[in-house]
Amino acid sequence: MAILIQLTWTQAPCWFVRRKQLFSSFRRHAVLRRSMASDSSAGGETTRFDFLVIGGGSGGLAGARRAAELGASTAVIESHKLGGTCVNVGCVPKKVMWNAAVHAEYLHDHNDYGFDVGNVRFSWEMLKAKRDTYVSHLNRIYRNNLDKAKIHIIQGHARFTSDPEPTVEVDGRKYTAPHILIATGGQPSVLSESEVPGASLGITSDGFFELETLPKRSVVVGAGYIAVEMAGILSTLGSQTSLIIRQTGVLRNFDTFISANCTKELQNTGVDMWKNSQVKSVSKTERGLEVTVVTKDPEKKNDEERIGTIQEVDCLLWAIGRQPNTYGLNTGEMGLDTDDRGHIIVDEFQNTSRSGIYAVGDVCGKALLTPVAIAAGRKLAHRLFEGKKDSKLDYSCIPTVVFSHPPIGTVGLTEEEAIKSRGKENVKVYKTSFTPMYHAITSRKSQCIMKLVCVGKEEKVVGLHMQGLGCDEMLQGFAVAIKMGATKADFDKTVAIHPTSSEEFVTMR
Ligand SMILES: Cc1cc2nc3c(=O)[nH]c(=O)nc-3n(C[C@H](O)[C@H](O)[C@H](O)COP(=O)(O)OP(=O)(O)OC[C@H]3O[C@@H](n4cnc5c(N)ncnc54)[C@H](O)[C@@H]3O)c2cc1C
Repeated sequence: MAILIQLTWTQAPCWFVRRKQLFSSFRRHAVLRRSMASDSSAGGETTRFDFLVIGGGSGGLAGARRAAELGASTAVIESHKLGGTCVNVGCVPKKVMWNAAVHAEYLHDHNDYGFDVGNVRFSWEMLKAKRDTYVSHLNRIYRNNLDKAKIHIIQGHARFTSDPEPTVEVDGRKYTAPHILIATGGQPSVLSESEVPGASLGITSDGFFELETLPKRSVVVGAGYIAVEMAGILSTLGSQTSLIIRQTGVLRNFDTFISANCTKELQNTGVDMWKNSQVKSVSKTERGLEVTVVTKDPEKKNDEERIGTIQEVDCLLWAIGRQPNTYGLNTGEMGLDTDDRGHIIVDEFQNTSRSGIYAVGDVCGKALLTPVAIAAGRKLAHRLFEGKKDSKLDYSCIPTVVFSHPPIGTVGLTEEEAIKSRGKENVKVYKTSFTPMYHAITSRKSQCIMKLVCVGKEEKVVGLHMQGLGCDEMLQGFAVAIKMGATKADFDKTVAIHPTSSEEFVTMR
């Protein structure tokens, strides 16, 4: 699996070549000191680096390591575990759980494929133990990689001080640098007790990874990709799961084709959907939580509200969005501009409103994905420490996968966005839906749906959306073609691979 560890020993030979190239290029722009220094000019001793990174997650580590490769003396400040959200409570442990859920799905098909697997038992406890061991292993790799790169690790919570020069304090010690990167990521949003009495009895996606046993009865609240993925994992692994959504479909920012299909697939796989619904209150009983839900159908004119309860719930999971980690960072002291949700506002080069302070990743609130944070961090390092003035991340056409059942792959514009930007008359859409050949002999069925959004006379493909078996692994290659500006004719010119689902994209009419 392509976990985004940014250098393992197996990559070393190629890395050494790269490092040599980078250093020779760095010598040409030799503007840096390669050491840290201390002075007491800012009142109390202040340690100086070339590059100070706040947050040891995807974006921070990538930026720090690239800067160090380019010769900058670098420090990373991390308050929790190295690797950040992705490694500890995001992509990595989530994908392990999704893989387990895919096993559970395939078990239903074993008989159809001639296997008699008898009495199958599943141990959440064992899975969790193995997953946690793997994550700890990754934490150690991250630490080793930083040590090897001679990057200083400062453990603790960073906050800006009121010193005249931008300065960060961690546990009473002060640090500064001409270039400071904020890569503090985000955290799950929670509701207050005044908004929903008993809300604190629930957990968030962080808590999901601490569950010691498979809940018998789960309620997931939210319609975004994290809600969809967690409800899918819980339900597929055998927890009776309800999903509470405020409107009629999940993934409302996706193409409506995907949003509608994913909502249907969740229902097909046994998730009990509560549409047009919100949690009103939560209470604890002897047999678990009681979740009271209010449902109001906007189609019905009489404004009637229905109140329902879900009882004996042993896992209530709030997946209602994420908020930036700026609390306690004292960004106000630096006069950094933020949006109304607290995200740090940056320009296309990741510059904040204060010179010498930059931000990348989830804290900026744009395309909240690990590879985006990593790419932005690396681009920034090349700009600051290799003199590549134009080095910046192109945020267009970023491919995304949702690990639902079956998975979703999407890149580029939705049909709705294409119509809005190019006009209905300039947009042509190709769609198909079929049963993948895998299901030809299984009694369990799932559909594969695909859509191409093309614009202009040349039918440039500006959007590709799909849900079905294998779509997670199918997307990356198509994303390259779309980023290169492929047209429908280019797709058609490509010979199909048979028998696969992906061949449908090059045979659509
Ligand atoms: C459940 C879940 C599943 C996900 N699945 C995927 C997926 O499949 N694919 C994908 O691409 N993305 C996924 N993501 C999103 C991905 O994890 C994030 O986009 C990515 O981690 C963002 O990286 P970052 O560097 O901006 O922040 P983070 O990785 O969150 O790192 C920020 C770090 O800063 C530290 N920090 C915060 N404040 C301070 C401070 N004041 N001082 C010191 N340290 C501080 C934090 O402890 C943290 O370690 C998922 C997220 C979640 C929650």
